[in-house]
Amino acid sequence: MTALTNLLDLDPAQLTAYCGELGEKPFRAKQLLRWIHQFGAHDFDAMTDLAKSLRDKLATRAMIAAPAVISDHTSTDGTRKWLLDVGQGNAVETVFIPEENRGTLCISTQAGCAVNCRFCSTGKQGFSRNLTVGEIIGQLWMAEFELRKSKGIEPGHKGERQITNVVMMGMGEPLLNYEPTVTALKLMLDDNAYGLSRRRVTLSTSGVVPMIDKLSQDCAVAMAVSLHASNDTLRDGLVPLNKKYPLRDLMAACKRYLEFAPRDFITFEYCMLDGVNDTDAHARELIALVQGHAGGPAVPCKFNLIPFNPFPESGLKRSNNPRIKAFAQILMDAGIVTTVRKTRGDDIDAACGQLAGEVQDRTRVQERMQKMTEYQQKFGKNFGRIIEVSQ
Ligand code: SAH
Ligand code: SF4
Repeated sequence: MTALTNLLDLDPAQLTAYCGELGEKPFRAKQLLRWIHQFGAHDFDAMTDLAKSLRDKLATRAMIAAPAVISDHTSTDGTRKWLLDVGQGNAVETVFIPEENRGTLCISTQAGCAVNCRFCSTGKQGFSRNLTVGEIIGQLWMAEFELRKSKGIEPGHKGERQITNVVMMGMGEPLLNYEPTVTALKLMLDDNAYGLSRRRVTLSTSGVVPMIDKLSQDCAVAMAVSLHASNDTLRDGLVPLNKKYPLRDLMAACKRYLEFAPRDFITFEYCMLDGVNDTDAHARELIALVQGHAGGPAVPCKFNLIPFNPFPESGLKRSNNPRIKAFAQILMDAGIVTTVRKTRGDDIDAACGQLAGEVQDRTRVQERMQKMTEYQQKFGKNFGRIIEVSQ
C-alpha cells in the first residue's frame, strides 16, 4: 500500500497539482485549503461541498495529520503550551500567548538546532532533524483549532480566529530549514488558508545572511534578528554562526531586507547576560553598530531585551533588573525603541530542562517536574525551548 499524502505538507500550488493528479479542477484545491486551514477539518466526509467520489478518493489516498500532542497545559494567564511528538524520540513545543488585542503563537522549525548558541538549551541539545511543512504548519493548525474547540467550536465549522500573530521563535533556526519554513509561511499568508498579513508573521534568525536575502525575495515577513552582542569578538563566543557571517555583513543584510520587509524596522533580540554583554559600554557600542558607525550601514531597528532564561549547564547568569533597565534606558536615550520581555518562573524552567519563560503557577512545579522527568526518560533531552514573546 502506498503511503497516504499528508495534505498539511502541501502549499496552495502543490495542492492544485495534487488535485490535477486526481483528475480534479484547480478550484477544488481552494475548497480543500479552506476546509483544512480555515475550518480545521480532518475528516474528508465533513467536506460537504466536495463530490462524494472525490471524498472517497481522498479518504483512501490522503490524510490531514498534525504532530501528536503529548501534553497540553494552560497557565493561569491563559498561556497555553503543547508538547508535540515529532517522531524518532523528538518533541517540540508550541506556545500560545493571549494578549488583549491579539493571540500570538510561537512555533518551532527544527528538532534541536545546529547553531549552538552558548546561552541556548536547544543549541546545547544538538541538532536532531528539520521539521517538515506539515509539522510546522501543523502547529498552527493544531493550536488554532484546539483553541476554537475550547470555545465550543468543533472542527469543520466556522469560528472566530484565535491566532492573529505567529512568531518563529521556538526551537530551531528557521533559515537553516529554509524550504519547509517558506512553504509554511506561504500557507500562513494565503487567503484561502490563514490569511495572516506579513506584518503579523515574524521570523527570528541568528543571522544566516544569504538566507535573509533569499527570504526577502521569496516571502518577506517581519524579521527579528538575534543579535546578543555589540562586537564580533563577543558575538563569535555567543553565536558561533557569527564567525561565518560577522556583524558587518549581518547589518548589511538587515538593511537590504528592509527594502522588501512589511515593516520599516528590524527587531533586534538581545539576551541579557550578567557581566557578559550587559554593560553601559556594550549599550553604547550597540548604538554605534546600528547607527552605522562600526563599518556596516545604519539599520532602522527596535530592540527587544530578553532576560536570560538560565539552565544548569550554561554557566551564565541573568542580568539583574536594574541593569536591564539601565541598559534599555541608554538605548532609548539614543532614540531606539526598546522593550524588555516579560519573564516568569526562571528557576523552575532551569529545573525543567529549559521549557523557558512561561511558568507562573509555582504550585504545579512538582507535577511539571514529574512530567518532565517522564518525558526525558521517554524522549531523551530533545525538548523544544520556547520563550515568552512580547513583540
Ligand atoms: N534560532 C532562531 C529562533 C529561535 S530562538 C534565533 O536564534 O533567533 C528565539 C530567541 O530566543 C532568540 O532570540 C534566542 O537568542 C533566544 N534565546 C535562546 N535561548 C535563550 C535563553 N536561554 N534565554 C533567553 N533567550 C534565549
Ligand atoms: Fe539555535 Fe536560535 Fe538556539 Fe541559537 S538561539 S542555538 S540559533 S535555536
